[in-house]
Amino acid sequence: MSKTLQAIRGMNDILPEQTPLWRYFEGRVASLLDGYGYRQIRMPIVEFTELFKRSIGEVTDIVEKEMYTFEDRNGDSLTLRPEGTAACVRAVLEHGLAGGGQTQKLWYIGPMFRHERPQKGRYRQFHQIGVEVFNIDGPDIDAELIVLTWRLWGLLGIRDAVTLELNSLGTSEARARYREALVDYLSARAERLDEDSRRRLASNPLRILDSKVAETQALLVDAPKLADYLDEESRVHFEGLKARLDAAGIPYVINPKLVRGLDYYSKTVFEWVTDKLGAQGTVCAGGRYDGLVEQMGGKPTPGVGFAMGIERLVLLIETLDQVPAEIARQVDLYLCAFGEPAELAALALAERLRDQLPGLRLQLNAGGGSFKSQLKKADKSGALYALVMGEDELARQVVGCKPLRDDSEQQNIAWAALAEHLAARI
Ligand code: ATP
Ligand code: MG
Repeated sequence: MSKTLQAIRGMNDILPEQTPLWRYFEGRVASLLDGYGYRQIRMPIVEFTELFKRSIGEVTDIVEKEMYTFEDRNGDSLTLRPEGTAACVRAVLEHGLAGGGQTQKLWYIGPMFRHERPQKGRYRQFHQIGVEVFNIDGPDIDAELIVLTWRLWGLLGIRDAVTLELNSLGTSEARARYREALVDYLSARAERLDEDSRRRLASNPLRILDSKVAETQALLVDAPKLADYLDEESRVHFEGLKARLDAAGIPYVINPKLVRGLDYYSKTVFEWVTDKLGAQGTVCAGGRYDGLVEQMGGKPTPGVGFAMGIERLVLLIETLDQVPAEIARQVDLYLCAFGEPAELAALALAERLRDQLPGLRLQLNAGGGSFKSQLKKADKSGALYALVMGEDELARQVVGCKPLRDDSEQQNIAWAALAEHLAARI
């Protein structure tokens, strides 16, 4: 196939074998969030480029080199959203959802786009579920976000494989003081920094903390520590969060180097990481962004949120063999019919069964075929029973009910009694 008729590198089809696990995952998250009182919001996938520049920050990896930006026919600069928070804040402001100090607990799901180097767990179109809370400034809500993700890991059977990393970035004033100290320290030793870090020294020095270069990390051992620059308010907030996590029995590791890639965070930042997926180990990440709404033209409004990467979590569920057996089966019954008179009766019977048994997953054979070929299709469908309607069955107003997953005998069941017979078995 010519290259331009193939999917774009890093943008994947999610094939029918995969979608049951995706739907299982998405369903679990949606009902969990319902249970904690979060409401779904759906934003467009495309926004003005300016929105992301203003919120994410000009000197971040995303804005500097990862955005899919284009000019539309009016000459406006638009961007495929690289993350959800910016658009969510925009929608909240535009519709006054957080006006007058009212609390909003929101979530969203959907594709995000970043021009990164595709590899396992890292794609150019990927999917996130994100949660954002507005107008609650205490550590209780930071804790709730972490508690509910912890519950989710439990529901999905992946809790033992993830670790919570926590840090506090302080207020933007505290961070500015720290930034200055860090820049002083590193500038005096700039010749030992890697090239990327040297560039960041001027633009985004905090990002140097999570540099992967060993020599840079060695240099950082004696560098000033963010924790020593925390303001009192942020310190108390962080202690409050830790106390709540202790009370809920959730283990965590303080990672003083956790700074996150986006500019807008303040106070709490956290990541759930796993060592089971290789280099792409962060499955969920978030933090507090008390300054963001104001930065985007609204009134000062505390905010906190996180986003989880669906591809990585689905991969983790598979890697840990936690795919529930029941999601593999998508068909309960496969109805075979032989000859047109039987096909007509089978169609009517199928529709009656759907009326009688809501939620029934019934596949009616289409395209004809011999007894052998239809039964083969029935077996391949994963159905528990094949229902057989031939001339004989039609004449007697019964249907053959053939168990496909055990050795029990085939039975003939009268049409009128079929729904009741099946209800007890599937
Ligand atoms: P990373 O450090 O892995 O690049 P990030 O800090 O850029 O992640 P966020 O912007 O915080 O990621 O997004 C939240 C989550 O979305 C990540 O923890 C990850 O699970 C997922 N994610 C981010 N970028 C990608 C991608 N390119 N492909 C797949 N999942 C991704
Ligand atoms: Mg990234």
